[in-house]
Amino acid sequence: MTSSLLPTYARAPIAFERGEGAWLTSTTGERFLDFGGGIAVASLGYSHPHLIKALHEQGDKLWHTSNLFQIPQAERLAERLTAVSFADFVFFTNSGAEAMEGVIKTARKYHAACGHPEKNRIITFQGAFHGRTLATIAAAGNEKYLDGFEPRLPGFDNVPFGDLEAVKAAIKPETGAILIEPIQGEGGIRVVSPDFLQALRKLCDEQGLLLLLDEVQSGVGRSGKLFAYEWAGVEPDVMAIAKGIGGGFPLGAFMATREAAKGMVVGTHGSTYGGNPLATSIGNAVLDIVLEPSFLAHVEATGVLLQQRLVALRERHPEVIAELRGAGLMRGIKVTLPVADFAAAARAEKLLVIPAGDNVVRLLPPLIIGEEEVDGAIERLDAACAALKARINANSSSLLSGAAE
Ligand SMILES: *Cc1c(COP(=O)(O)O)cnc(C)c1O
Repeated sequence: MTSSLLPTYARAPIAFERGEGAWLTSTTGERFLDFGGGIAVASLGYSHPHLIKALHEQGDKLWHTSNLFQIPQAERLAERLTAVSFADFVFFTNSGAEAMEGVIKTARKYHAACGHPEKNRIITFQGAFHGRTLATIAAAGNEKYLDGFEPRLPGFDNVPFGDLEAVKAAIKPETGAILIEPIQGEGGIRVVSPDFLQALRKLCDEQGLLLLLDEVQSGVGRSGKLFAYEWAGVEPDVMAIAKGIGGGFPLGAFMATREAAKGMVVGTHGSTYGGNPLATSIGNAVLDIVLEPSFLAHVEATGVLLQQRLVALRERHPEVIAELRGAGLMRGIKVTLPVADFAAAARAEKLLVIPAGDNVVRLLPPLIIGEEEVDGAIERLDAACAALKARINANSSSLLSGAAE
């Protein structure tokens, strides 16, 4: 198919026309159970009446004003986010990468404001993903994403995942912060242990470093807690969120304590669109639902149910499923064959899943799913595994072809 879109994606040969709950209908009228959620974005599924109402109500009134004026919708959303988190301040962005840029800038500015502009290096972890801007690809240190985009932004020291001794060894006089995803998403749903996060917090406190979290994927209820850092009982100094907070509308944010944000004064940062009335009205509508008293308990319980069913699935298909990972409704299935083949086999069974690094397939369903959707997904995964097993058994060297994601 010829396309005028810059060919940076290997897109699956399918387009969608409509969505409802966890279901998507293709332009050819086929229905798919979506356990990808537009990459953890459709936190409330598709066509949620409360989000549609917010979109229409604000859409009829005013979309955009710029940040040269007061934005009551943004004020309200920021106030609500600070009330339920570690943060004292919020800056709204349009994407996760922009939110991460804000996190990095806040960390550098903090040390500059403290009289130590030289403390501008940030320790990051192998397998991380922080976005596709020049700063965020340098931060993550993934050579695949850096290739050809030299010179890379200096200031990042990438260490092995989960290796506390490597972190300690990487700390120099110029180190100002440690940046980590509490659950690596793109890297393959690698969960950072609570012990490790606690150790990082302690290290940061001892060494005068800021703890920066990237919860662009794990935040806003995805892990079964509002923010994944809650599982470890530690709080960051600065954090990025995005994906789930907009429920499909482009919205992100970085959040900081008063102390960490002390350098971010008038004129130091900005965004034309960031936090506009339309985006933040929808963010408020997402929070209306996510902050309902039973919502997170439902996510956690559904996550436990999904995990139980996945464990049984793995027992039935050990030839295909090597390992299970994750928390809440952020689950990873490490497979024995190429992830693209697994995703294609699931798609053939009308289930959408998302490939990630480390040969892991991600399940990031809407947080509103219940037992019915869990059962539907497991049935489809079962059929996909059986189909893949038949291929493995037939010793076919040509697994599902041309399915690169
Ligand atoms: C998706 C993601 C980003 C980048 O978000 P964009 O909206 O694509 O810029 C950053 N960090 C993590 C952990 C992500 O999952």
